Amino acid sequence: MSDLAAGLERVLGDGSRVLTQPQVVDRLSRDFYWYSPILKAMLDDKRADVVVQPVSVGEICAVLRYCHGNDVPVTVRGAGTGNYGQAVPLQGGVVLDLQRMDRIEAIDEDGVAVCEPCVRLGALETSAREVGWELRCYPSTVAKASLGGFLGGGSGGIGSVKHGGLRDFATVRAIEIVTMEDEPRVVKHEGPAVHEILHAWGTNGVMTKIWFALTPAVAWSQMALAFKTFGEAFTFSEMIAVDAVWDKRLITVFEWPLPSFFGPVKPLTREGEASIFLMIAESQVDDLQMAAVKAGATVTLAQPYAGLRSQPLLSDYTWNHTTLWAMKADPEYTYLQCGFKPEHVREQFALLKDKYGADFLLHIEWMKNGEGVMIPGAIPVVRYSTEARLNEMIDYCREIGVFVANPHVNHVEGGGRYREDNVQLLAKYKYDAKGLMNPGKMASFVRKDAMEEQHA
Ligand SMILES: Cc1cc2nc3c(=O)[nH]c(=O)nc-3n(C[C@H](O)[C@H](O)[C@H](O)COP(=O)(O)OP(=O)(O)OC[C@H]3O[C@@H](n4cnc5c(N)ncnc54)[C@H](O)[C@@H]3O)c2cc1C
Repeated sequence: MSDLAAGLERVLGDGSRVLTQPQVVDRLSRDFYWYSPILKAMLDDKRADVVVQPVSVGEICAVLRYCHGNDVPVTVRGAGTGNYGQAVPLQGGVVLDLQRMDRIEAIDEDGVAVCEPCVRLGALETSAREVGWELRCYPSTVAKASLGGFLGGGSGGIGSVKHGGLRDFATVRAIEIVTMEDEPRVVKHEGPAVHEILHAWGTNGVMTKIWFALTPAVAWSQMALAFKTFGEAFTFSEMIAVDAVWDKRLITVFEWPLPSFFGPVKPLTREGEASIFLMIAESQVDDLQMAAVKAGATVTLAQPYAGLRSQPLLSDYTWNHTTLWAMKADPEYTYLQCGFKPEHVREQFALLKDKYGADFLLHIEWMKNGEGVMIPGAIPVVRYSTEARLNEMIDYCREIGVFVANPHVNHVEGGGRYREDNVQLLAKYKYDAKGLMNPGKMASFVRKDAMEEQHA
């Protein structure tokens, strides 16, 4: 056994939660970075030396104290469903796997859930709905993904069309973290101070408790529509998205052939046609069906939503699950994450289709931004040939005014969710001055002693 594993066993007083078996360490050192051919090449051989599974805040403090004292890097892991290698340790050391800290402590009367970090979002959604609440937004990986991982690495998803992303509308009320210092502290960030920790990829502390605002539950229905052309489908989706009359949780539009990749729900799609998958208030289903038929659509599904066990569960084909289905059909596909300008969106579509044709397949996810403006977000499925061509596509999108959050980079700053006011980096200087938390992922961080040497 390595000195590190032996030291950690002493710290926990329980060897069964210090994991060193190579296959287990391998598995728990990986996430879904392989969606990106660029990250795949970069990260395939990266792994931790040891995985530790704490069960309490006290144990997390003890592990961080030990790692700080011995200069051991620590990478926090929720469920490992991130897409950018966020939970992949670049410099070995410890993966701090929080899967045993998965309790919902309370769902307050005012609809705030108080949770341990590794509560599964699916479990939280199900428990919340039992008492009249539901998640404001969640990723399509809801069944597996953890709340801490969503806050650490995610951005939004199903529900964002109504409630914005994770950063918006005070959805994250407060976060308690443990710092990486010689004597780790438990620090609570409330209100706007949560932004110091949100989407920092676990580079500036370990989230140990989260206060997460919910919203009153709605009786939803799932609907699938097919339209002869993508233009017609997009125009219909836009009408539903921007008109506040419609109470919606999901509006996803797919250009053909994307629907052809959706094996189990292929019967809900029409050969050669664009599809829309929706979640809409059950009370509005009849009106929506009428509107859709009037707009030329075929309604292929209209079914009350029975929670995450619904069969089919349309959200399994939306957000970044769309990319997964496409990659299953053809491994040469990868993806981008874009935001179109509502006032120029059609012109931007036309430019992209003219230039890239079937190598750039439109997949739209409507979402509300923090100012309440409805945005045609997108996770286009693109054909990969070389890194240079992919970068050229990104450059072209930006040139024509399409926002791109690049999913093919492995640091917080490059991904598009870094705060321009640098608060995540400033929090790292406060809480992890040695740079031991997920090292390499906050690219602009420089250790103070290295800075002093440079300036000497
Ligand atoms: C098919 C597919 C679809 C997806 N769809 C979406 C989507 O719709 N929306 C979306 O936002 N994302 C999406 N993702 C990305 C990912 O699934 C989500 O962001 C998910 O919420 C991550 O949760 P996790 O528990 O797996 O996090 P992990 O991958 O384990 O961790 C993510 C990051 O957070 C850090 N972290 C984890 N726990 C903590 C903690 N307690 N304290 C500090 N840092 C921590 C990790 O170090 C890592 O940097 C998708 C991914 C896949 C593979």
